[in-house]
Amino acid sequence: MRPTRTRFAPSPTGALHAGAIRTALFAWLVAKHDKGQFILRIEDTDQVRNVEGAVDNIIASLKYLGLDWSEGPDIAGPYGPYIQSQRLPIYHQWANKLIENGRAYADPYTKDQLDQLRDQAKQQKKPFLFRNHRPDNPPKWDGSQPLRFKSDPKTYQWNDLVLGKLSAGPESVDDFIIIKSDGYPTYNFCHIIDDHLMEITHLIRSQEFIPSVPKFLNLYEALKIPLPIFATPPPVLNQDNDRKLSKREGAKQVLDYQRMGILPEAMINMIVSLGWNDGTTDEIYSTEQLIEKFDLSRVQKSGAHFNEDKLLWLNGHYIRKLNDLELFKLSTNYLPDSSKNFDDTYVQSVLGLIKERLKYLAEIPVLTNFFFEDLPINIKLIDENKVLSKISKSDLKELLIASVAELESNDFQLKNLVDCLNRLLEKTNQQPKVLFSLIRIATTQAPASPPLAETISLLGKEKTLGRINQLIEYLVKSN
Ligand code: GLU
Repeated sequence: MRPTRTRFAPSPTGALHAGAIRTALFAWLVAKHDKGQFILRIEDTDQVRNVEGAVDNIIASLKYLGLDWSEGPDIAGPYGPYIQSQRLPIYHQWANKLIENGRAYADPYTKDQLDQLRDQAKQQKKPFLFRNHRPDNPPKWDGSQPLRFKSDPKTYQWNDLVLGKLSAGPESVDDFIIIKSDGYPTYNFCHIIDDHLMEITHLIRSQEFIPSVPKFLNLYEALKIPLPIFATPPPVLNQDNDRKLSKREGAKQVLDYQRMGILPEAMINMIVSLGWNDGTTDEIYSTEQLIEKFDLSRVQKSGAHFNEDKLLWLNGHYIRKLNDLELFKLSTNYLPDSSKNFDDTYVQSVLGLIKERLKYLAEIPVLTNFFFEDLPINIKLIDENKVLSKISKSDLKELLIASVAELESNDFQLKNLVDCLNRLLEKTNQQPKVLFSLIRIATTQAPASPPLAETISLLGKEKTLGRINQLIEYLVKSN
């Protein structure tokens, strides 16, 4: 049996989103599972659609998720180059073979003439087929005209590892362009040659190509190229509707998730669930487990919804598995600048405290800034608090004064603080949702924070009392 070789063959037409990277992940898993190879090939023959920076974006997206390739635009290999625009002589060689065998011809029509033929077909309510208008004596191909494949229409049946048996009648097979007038080949032609020369065994690609497969089959025959295994995963859909995930529909770039601080493990688990499960309801797998379990025969046919809530849940899971030092290292680019004034141990403790609630790393500044800087009093937090807004400002001030009195004699060790806060509840005859919310707002200027005793223990006595006194002063002044 031939060693498994799969490929990811993106066109550099923009940034990768989850749908595209899912195709890459499945192809990568198939290769790793079979101890084969995964190849990256850049399909840039549609010069008009190429976007600057897109190749870098593709490479960075794959690297973020650890989807490594053994041959590609940046790694020479036996079947290179791996950028199609650098392979033009190869395609011309194969095109000439077709011409010699009478299976390709120069297209003599102007655009206007073609449009006319299309209009005619439309008026007669017939599908337009180029092969009905094949020129009797085509001009010799000089490279300035499009070169068309001379098809041999027939009914096809083929097998798709995901979709099962598929078939299409001769009307799906037409004379399509294989080399354009700019000298570049079309995808329809060159992917077949490249997959063959690069010894690709499994062709895993998105559903948009299904209608073209009969045309491809006709060309495989004409070129005497054996068929690879076809596998077509289901479309990736938006979270809230059944439309395909796309840039137009506002799909995020894969790299946006990296910038948000989604860990690669979480992203991989989200992406792999888009059309695959192992027959259980498990949702969390290590990459090694996925490599062992992944099997194209378990890929479902129907569309799969991307789910950002699930992604955040998965990310929280992986964040909580990190120890404080690991989280600290991953957080370098996310911590607020003010954290630089503090030693690493303090910053690590802060991260340790928020770890339970942290869903993605870009949330770190809003969840931690009060540990590193004094924030201006935001009285709205009191005015908009359901319970505190019903209490008079002067009563709130009295509660704060009582809190300072009790806290002043405390050493701010966590256990002693917990006792102290409980005593304070008894003394003031208040509930935590009143007293603790008030102290929380005074010390953090945030409506929510990690548990209060932990928070103020880490802030320390001086800062805690300083901030409470500041709010007292504010309430005095504003009275
Ligand atoms: N270049 C094609 C695209 O980006 C890839 C199709 C394929 O995987 O064969 O849509």
